Amino acid sequence: MSKSLRLSEKWFRRGLWIVAIVFAGFLTGLGNTVVRHLPRVETTVSLDQFMPPETPRLRERLRDANKAEAEVNRSVEQARQQHGVAVADSRTAADSLAAFLATRQVTARAEQDPEVLARREAVEAAKRTERQALALVEVRQKELLDLRQEQERIRARLREMEEGARDAFERAHRAQEMRVFLYRLALTLPLLLVAGWLFAKKRQGTYWPFVWGFILFALVAFFVELVPYLPDWGGYVRYAVGIVVTVLVGRWAIAALNRYLERQRAAEAMPDAQRRDELSYDVALARLAKKVCPGCERPVDLANPENDYCPHCGIGLFNKCGCGARKSAFARFCHACGRAAGAQGSGSAA
Ligand SMILES: [Zn+2]
Ligand SMILES: [Zn+2]
Repeated sequence: MSKSLRLSEKWFRRGLWIVAIVFAGFLTGLGNTVVRHLPRVETTVSLDQFMPPETPRLRERLRDANKAEAEVNRSVEQARQQHGVAVADSRTAADSLAAFLATRQVTARAEQDPEVLARREAVEAAKRTERQALALVEVRQKELLDLRQEQERIRARLREMEEGARDAFERAHRAQEMRVFLYRLALTLPLLLVAGWLFAKKRQGTYWPFVWGFILFALVAFFVELVPYLPDWGGYVRYAVGIVVTVLVGRWAIAALNRYLERQRAAEAMPDAQRRDELSYDVALARLAKKVCPGCERPVDLANPENDYCPHCGIGLFNKCGCGARKSAFARFCHACGRAAGAQGSGSAA
């Protein structure tokens, strides 16, 4: 880009590149904001949308069953505890009867002793209580089992329904992804086309920083911003467009190189003075500073006082001023006498 030797111009150009990059940054930010708001065009699809209408009722039943399970669990716990207490009671009663009988004379008739009868009665009662408690435990456990089976049935039914709905849901989900991707493609692809047109026509115009800013923005929008929204096959779109863009830019570069070589050959065929006139002053100085011939851009030895002409293309590099000083043929003024070199007159010297 930098063809000029003037210091301020160089710095202005750098500043303008910063303008281009900042411009691209703001455009990208704006584009991002727009793209972020895009999904709202679509409501997100969920699996529930594809479930049969009885689903909410089944889910309600499952919730109720879960709640009931917790309660029945508690009552099973309670019944077990009661049973445990009853078992302990009946054991105590039995033990105390046994101990009582052991301390008595065997001769006495136990069957008729009211004390023994009362203790036997107590043991019987305790056994009855124990049996009732055990029956209660079994009833509660049965309830719990029924509930769990009911839950399992509902869950299996729900799973079955989900399996049935999944295909339709996934189809709808993919279709939606595709639509969102296409919206974005419809937004970013024209940007890329506009950028290509600007590159071809306007990249060297007065407002080039904005042109380059826009081109950078379009490239970022297409090749970076679009990536998170790519469906499975989106990569094909991205790489295909990338290949097309690269081929176009490459073809343009090759054509530009050929045009340059053509121009260069034509220029080298022209007379010396005319060639010098057609070279921009700044371009000539920049090339001389790089120790290459301003006409053909091949290396020349400028330090040798014998070299007045380029040995490759024959363009005059040094000539003599009216005052006799040897000076650069591209200089506008003589460095010795300050006389204007004159664009036409200096060609015939030396
Ligand atoms: Zn040359
Ligand atoms: Zn002079």
